[in-house]
Amino acid sequence: MNDQALLRYSRQIMLDPIEIEGQERLLASHALVIGAGGLGSPVALYLAAAGVGRLTLADDDAVELSNLQRQVAHGQADIGRLKAESARDAALALNPDCRITAVTERLDGEALALAVQAADLVLDCTDRFASRYAINAACQAEGRPLVSGAAIRFGGQLAVFDPRDPESPCYACLYPPSKPGEPVDDEELRCAENGVVAPLVGLIGSFQALEAVKLLSGAGSAHQGLSTFDGLTGEWRRFRVPRDPACPVCGQRCGQD
Ligand SMILES: [Zn+2]
Repeated sequence: MNDQALLRYSRQIMLDPIEIEGQERLLASHALVIGAGGLGSPVALYLAAAGVGRLTLADDDAVELSNLQRQVAHGQADIGRLKAESARDAALALNPDCRITAVTERLDGEALALAVQAADLVLDCTDRFASRYAINAACQAEGRPLVSGAAIRFGGQLAVFDPRDPESPCYACLYPPSKPGEPVDDEELRCAENGVVAPLVGLIGSFQALEAVKLLSGAGSAHQGLSTFDGLTGEWRRFRVPRDPACPVCGQRCGQD
């Protein structure tokens, strides 16, 4: 780190759980952020500002007027631009030293597997169940920790799934996928159909970014279980999430009893 970097990250370096070694680990790390909307905006901005050395931002949508109420990486002048590129530019404006790749296609199949493999950690900032299951399966297959966030109406939740930890569940342990033939309820998570209060996505996205900074720098310990937040009462709750030995995704994982 040069003097400018030492100054830029000084307020993190002075923290005992991070120090210079943790900041260097952050600078050497690569996070994959899938979704550059309400959750992906604070995630991308905070990870770039905090000094994660490399980010891949994936989103195939374009910015619309109705996004601006909560998707704070995009501005009025970005309407019509691709979200991955708009969020990249916003993050680079905060920290031009961050290496950022914008992926403007929807990541699935082989492309998703390769993107997950290339990253040290994945943040799920999407709003579709189908994407969430595919991202979870790729993270389990490639052995990459997954920081999952969701926000709808006045409620949010966060969980960290780390396949490197034999005790850690996966997203499919928490939300078992529907059986073959059953329809996947793809609408339930979508802000477009349900509405969402603006600061809620900032709260949950910032929580995701914090967990990513901890995992990548080595500070503290990863969030366990499922945290939920009710914005109408201000109440946080924490639930244990045991690993499901019959889980179709992680049930056969190595290291299982
Ligand atoms: Zn599982």
